[in-house]
Amino acid sequence: MSAKEPKLHFETLAVHCGAGPEEGSVSLVRPVHMSASFKLPEFGPELFDALLMESDQPPHVYSRWSNPSVRSLEEKLAGLEGGEAALVTATGMAAVATVLLGQLQKGDHIIAQEICYMGSQEFIAKHLERFGIEISLVDTADLEQIEAAFQSNTKLIYIETPANPILRVIDIAAVSALAARRGVKLVVDSTYATPYLQRPLELGADLVVHSLTKYINGHGDILGGAIIGSMEEIKSLRKDILIYLGSSAGPFDAWLIARGMQTLALRMEKHCANALAIAAFLEQHPAVERVFYPGLPSHPHHALAARQMPGGFGGMVAFRLKEGMPAVVKMAEKIKIFTYATSLGHPHSLVFFYPTDLYIDQAAYLSDQQKQSIRQEWMGEGIVRLSAGLENSADLINDLDQALQT
Ligand SMILES: *Cc1c(COP(=O)(O)O)cnc(C)c1O
Repeated sequence: MSAKEPKLHFETLAVHCGAGPEEGSVSLVRPVHMSASFKLPEFGPELFDALLMESDQPPHVYSRWSNPSVRSLEEKLAGLEGGEAALVTATGMAAVATVLLGQLQKGDHIIAQEICYMGSQEFIAKHLERFGIEISLVDTADLEQIEAAFQSNTKLIYIETPANPILRVIDIAAVSALAARRGVKLVVDSTYATPYLQRPLELGADLVVHSLTKYINGHGDILGGAIIGSMEEIKSLRKDILIYLGSSAGPFDAWLIARGMQTLALRMEKHCANALAIAAFLEQHPAVERVFYPGLPSHPHHALAARQMPGGFGGMVAFRLKEGMPAVVKMAEKIKIFTYATSLGHPHSLVFFYPTDLYIDQAAYLSDQQKQSIRQEWMGEGIVRLSAGLENSADLINDLDQALQT
């Protein structure tokens, strides 16, 4: 099963898309195609298609261009995200860089979210200008700020929702309507939500980006990234950018990610339930100053999140402790089930502290007014980012409870 099957449900597609025996094989589970290059078709149109990558599924030539195991994963991702095609990359950042370098050129202008995944934010804020691209970094939850940032050379809007690390939720349908009206493209990093909770293409986005390292692989053992969109866009990103950046995914990594992805629905249900229970626990805890979880009525974008992510609010929680950094250090020393580590979307529950004073103060691309409002509304003197894993929720809550005891 390769094409999207709108009649079928998510769990069915997660198992069947890009799966099943390959031509000439009876193996129900496809093998890992560990091969750098492939035997080429005989001289003729098929060979030209392979070498020029013109059709939607050209014959494989060399694994930097395409590989059968990577293509199987691409079919699964396209099917679940509701896109025509997908491009899998070695990491999430490779997907972000491929999209930005593929869509923008010298003289163009991009409007991007001022607080998002640090790697993306730094790449946009510190590096795109070197290539002659103008940037505006705004709070994309505020449509007026996007509107005010438009220039005659604006080509792209880049958003992330829910956003790392503060869990701000951006209205994809509203931003995509704005983008369409202005004739610019919208790229959405949907890593935190996964296609199980949110499908940006259905809400009008042009391209979706994922770090597969997180929930989609879901086992904390592989890096990967993906871009999903129209066949035309994806073909061009592969042919014109990815093969030159060389950040293609390896076949074994792709095979493992596709294996992990079959259980995405089950895992997301558990991640969401655990995160909600933890968020509710933290919200009533005397040591906690503020909790951010899109599933709590106290979250500033709760109503939007409920509309945009009908399947659940995700597995990520952010919170601030009343006693600040010293209390975080104490908590980090006392946790037993949680691990103090970066990353997210793993079976293991993780916590990680963002010293947001530094984070915001060092951000030369933010105005003083932006810094002040981000600090006041979201970050305070620092936030703990928590990734709820797949353990039992009572065990997780008990662990936090003992770690927060003074
Ligand atoms: C982790 C992450 C990335 C980068 O992905 P890598 O696989 O680490 O390169 C991009 N966007 C978001 C939202 C992320 O959480």
